[in-house]
Amino acid sequence: MKHWIAACALTLTQPALIAQTAHADTLVDNIRGETIAAGGSVQAFIALMFDDNGVITAVYHTGERLPRQGKKGYQYRIDGKGHVLLPGMIDAHAHVIDTGFALLRLDLTDTASLDEALARIAAYARAHPDRPWIVGGGWNQERWHLGRFPTAAELDRAVPDRPVWLDRVDGHAGWANSAALKLAGVTAATPTPDGGAIDRLPDGRPAGVLVDHATALMDRVVPTPTPRDLDLALATAEADFAKMGITAVADMGTSINEWLAYRRAGDANRLYIRIMAYALGTEAMATIGGTGPTPWLYADRLHMGGVKLFLDGALGSRGAWLKAAYADQPASHGTPLLTETQLGNLMSRAAMDHYQVAVHAIGDQANATLLTTIDDLGHTYRGERRWRIEHAQIVDPADWPLVATIAAKGGLIASMQPVHQTSDRVMAEARLGPDRLRGAYAWASLKRQGAVLAFGSDTPVERPDPWTGIAAALSRQDKTGAPAGGWQPQERVDRPTALAAYTTNAAWAGFAETRFGRIAPGQRADFILIDTDPMTATPDAIRHTKVFQTWVGGGKTWDADAPAGEAKDKPERPL
Ligand SMILES: [Zn+2]
Repeated sequence: MKHWIAACALTLTQPALIAQTAHADTLVDNIRGETIAAGGSVQAFIALMFDDNGVITAVYHTGERLPRQGKKGYQYRIDGKGHVLLPGMIDAHAHVIDTGFALLRLDLTDTASLDEALARIAAYARAHPDRPWIVGGGWNQERWHLGRFPTAAELDRAVPDRPVWLDRVDGHAGWANSAALKLAGVTAATPTPDGGAIDRLPDGRPAGVLVDHATALMDRVVPTPTPRDLDLALATAEADFAKMGITAVADMGTSINEWLAYRRAGDANRLYIRIMAYALGTEAMATIGGTGPTPWLYADRLHMGGVKLFLDGALGSRGAWLKAAYADQPASHGTPLLTETQLGNLMSRAAMDHYQVAVHAIGDQANATLLTTIDDLGHTYRGERRWRIEHAQIVDPADWPLVATIAAKGGLIASMQPVHQTSDRVMAEARLGPDRLRGAYAWASLKRQGAVLAFGSDTPVERPDPWTGIAAALSRQDKTGAPAGGWQPQERVDRPTALAAYTTNAAWAGFAETRFGRIAPGQRADFILIDTDPMTATPDAIRHTKVFQTWVGGGKTWDADAPAGEAKDKPERPL
């Protein structure tokens, strides 16, 4: 690790000296630096220094004299060219391997109609004649203005001869063709699994889409990725994160095989982002961690500190668990994926061994049940547990006081995704009706109750672009500026809050605040050079932020000005 850090820090200046340099401090100056200080305010600085372990040793403020080059000063210098320097962005809710696969596989996220999607699928199948299965995802029937799920018969038109399985954009449903349904043995006689749904034709035969737990019927037959596939997906995701300015992520639902891919990358010195892993369920948690969270491995690049659980599904597929029926489907409240007892038992299983608990909760009933369960467990599992609610998308204002109670006792993290608000607005209004919107994507209100806001993207559900996220957090408007004045604008957050949610708070949410997340002595030298100051620029300008360079632990992982011929999106390789 040290080799890579030193090599990357030094390649900018005098690579010939690497072998002889026992102690090399690097100064980064000519910058407009900003970080969230210990008290939560924004602190400006003009330079920083880091050592050859990639740890920040000094931060310089206006009026302070910078060290000189030489024995007692710095050995190497990075000229920031007057750019804005921020701590590396942290995506508090990401799916790392899935992000890589989403970039590698058939991607339907930007298709505007079913016909366009079918044409794309057919073309992809033609381009990959050797693949026994066509897998992909990103479809969204809402975007297609279809008013229903797509069907297997429609998919058969594009690919009649091979099985096809395509995840919905939110990952909570999948779309199969007839060949795939046949292989999975899903027929009219297949009972609807608990916590799931099978979209059916009038005669009871499966129509093609399987929702939530029903997708497991297909998971049994879809070929699983090989270790080589996983390694490629990880490398692809790392490069994608780096160019967005992301230096760390919380991986929300790490499988054992994904964990092994991270370990392979760490062992081979190929981990270019910090991964705070949350195991996918308590079994993976116990298998990976054994008696408790793993140590921080590879110089703070990998840690499995907790477990990810799912209490409900998503709003788009009406899998979110609501207190009252869906406004646009009065027979349904959505479906919990766990009973209250199961939830309590699983959380207890994790908390007893001091794993942190992160629970996916979208609907207001899911959030209410989760809050009650946390409150109960708080009597047994004391101390600062930093309970995480993933998404916390609709929290009934009646339950806000409980947020405050828990936040004051064991710490509560609202791990939210600003861009979901702008993407979901129209759908959320249809699903919830006008009366439930006050508790929807209620960033400012949850913060006011004492919840710590940690922001992320839920990539690959959305692109892992923190700049779009910050723009949405400040404006509650999408990239076209709609709606005028912002949607439920009382829930906007201020600039320091948005920056903290992507840096210090996101680190705190992963028990990493002493390691990274801010520019301060003792912290890892994770920083980015960008062209736009998020403390002063308009949301639209922030949305278009250009990331010049990304550094992780004093090693450069992205350079927009990489020399011609060098792949721009490839992190620098260790020597
Ligand atoms: Zn997620």
